[in-house]
Amino acid sequence: MPIATTNPATGQVLKSYDPMSEEQIDAAIGRADLAYRQLRGTTIAQRGRWLTAAAELLEADRDETARLMTTEMGKTYAAAKAEVTKCAAACRFYAAKAAEFLADEPADAGAVKAIRAFVRYQPIGPVLAVMPWNFPLWQVMRFAAPALMAGNTGLLKHASNVPQTALLLEDLFRRAGFPEGAFTTLLVGSAEVDRVLSDPRVRAATLTGSEGAGRSIAQIAGRELKKTVLELGGSDPFVVMPSADLDRAAEVATTARCQNNGQSCIAAKRFIVHADVFDAFAERFAANMSALRVGDPMDPDTDVGPLASEGGRDEIHAQVRDAVDKGATVLCGGEPHAGPGWFYPPTVVTDLRPEMRMWSEEVFGPVAGLYRVSSYDEAIEVANGTAFGLGSNAWTRDPAEQERFATDLDAGNVFVNGMTTSYPELPFGGVRNSGYGRELSALGMREFCNIKTVWVGEGAASAGAGAHAE
Ligand code: NAP
Repeated sequence: MPIATTNPATGQVLKSYDPMSEEQIDAAIGRADLAYRQLRGTTIAQRGRWLTAAAELLEADRDETARLMTTEMGKTYAAAKAEVTKCAAACRFYAAKAAEFLADEPADAGAVKAIRAFVRYQPIGPVLAVMPWNFPLWQVMRFAAPALMAGNTGLLKHASNVPQTALLLEDLFRRAGFPEGAFTTLLVGSAEVDRVLSDPRVRAATLTGSEGAGRSIAQIAGRELKKTVLELGGSDPFVVMPSADLDRAAEVATTARCQNNGQSCIAAKRFIVHADVFDAFAERFAANMSALRVGDPMDPDTDVGPLASEGGRDEIHAQVRDAVDKGATVLCGGEPHAGPGWFYPPTVVTDLRPEMRMWSEEVFGPVAGLYRVSSYDEAIEVANGTAFGLGSNAWTRDPAEQERFATDLDAGNVFVNGMTTSYPELPFGGVRNSGYGRELSALGMREFCNIKTVWVGEGAASAGAGAHAE
């Protein structure tokens, strides 16, 4: 894939970049390694001041940064501005909380025959971040803010269609005061990931992206014995039970499916509705989806902009056609817009069956699958019936049912009477083919820490009588 900015609203290539040479990649890794040695000698308070400066810069440049993101990948300008604000908030969150998250944790010294025993969280070195284009600032920030605060350095291989946002991020951390090399953008294609991750100076990798990319990086990391965090795709269920507030559920369902032009890993993609309220929900949902305005993402009246790439638009249409050819019914949408740009209308497809691609695959655009079920158990069976396990949503006013959904949905998170969202305060990640490891909260910060056990005694053998000496 060329490293270039192509405006998805027009199809025009605006700016192209030559990929970095082998020598340039090697030099960048060297700078990241050097910066790591510098950074681990700084205090949390100092790193916090730099990260707070990054938040201030983000806020000051919000509109310009948002315009760039909209131009590179087509999200609405309003959504892009909100993304910048969220990134600034995450920087402030980690600047404020790092001392607490990285504090030594005392252990029961008596139980391990020590005078003192504790866990210390320390940085591990340069971390490679392979990131997607869909939230081009946020996906990077939720790795970078905790990683830099912990004293690690970052090497960013961003998606090839958002090079200007990638360079803006490098510039942001430099301007905020972090040492040269603390955060570096590598303008490289995915074929170079093996070289970078194999370099002994690079200690770990985090990837947000597709299942295929996850498998590839996990293989390289397995060979090189390096830690990875993988945030992969999802086909999140949105279950609606008879006691739900149907108006509210249909409204939130529309946002949950079409936010970010339908291109979110945690977008609700499969709407699983109890037969008692199926017709009433379907009518409301299809009406809401049809009412969304598709168009120029810079226009404040637009709800849904273009898909980020022509290939992405063609792929979701192929998934819809496959379902229709095998007997599914389209309640609204279903045909790409004519003319320039990669627009696709909000679409609802029902009468889905397991042999259709939409049943088991992720649909990365504003297309909803609508399923009728006749019981709680059938709802759970359909909801858990894909290989994914990222987010999940359940709508019910019955407290007992809320508890059951919290336990029974096989996913990294369950949102009851709401839609899946990420917050710096809460851990984020998936199970099964949606990946492993967690981002955000204290857990996300500690993923790339050496969780070091420290035991201090009086000079006797450390293992107690009868304990294994290992
Ligand atoms: P993608 O093709 O996997 O691309 C993501 C990143 O991985 C890009 O930087 C890409 O580089 C790189 N890449 C692709 N193939 C690779 C390989 N074989 N080895 C190493 N790197 C590789 O994903 P996408 O289609 O652009 O993004 C959408 C996917 O990301 C969806 O499945 C979505 O659900 C998932 N996602 C997950 C989360 C989460 O938090 N779980 C969040 C957002 C998105 P190039 O651009 O150069 O190809």
